[in-house]
Amino acid sequence: MIAIQETWTPERVDQLKIYFEAGLSCRDIAVNIGVSRNAVIGKLSRLNLTRTTPDERRARRKKSAAHAAQRATAKQQLRLLQAVYEQEPDDAPIVSANSCSLLELSEQRCRWPISTPGADDFCFCGNTPLGGMPYCSGHYRLAYQAGSRQRAMRG
Ligand SMILES: [Zn+2]
Repeated sequence: MIAIQETWTPERVDQLKIYFEAGLSCRDIAVNIGVSRNAVIGKLSRLNLTRTTPDERRARRKKSAAHAAQRATAKQQLRLLQAVYEQEPDDAPIVSANSCSLLELSEQRCRWPISTPGADDFCFCGNTPLGGMPYCSGHYRLAYQAGSRQRAMRG
């Protein structure tokens, strides 16, 4: 009679869990228990025991740090906008002395469209934008007012 040797005796499963918790690699666990590395990997996945690698943990931390930075920037920009809105009168003229074409647009130029897209004289404002934002202060004020109007109409 041939005794079929069971790979995963309850004792070995316990050892597997302990070694896994201790952070041993699959290879080390296999050597310690006396089974193949593939057996360890297979059993871990059947037990739903997965481990995040240091790389994955780092990536996750980085991501949440980036989100926090984004939120901080958004708050800062909102404060800037509010300051502009409070300081400048509603009907202050917006002088776009440096208007530019689509090709000339850059991070350093307000991209508020002037006249109708497609028209011969169509161009962009081109003024220096408010810190880190796409529009100059005057055009931010316009955008803000347009937003309030739309909300008032909807409401
Ligand atoms: Zn502008």
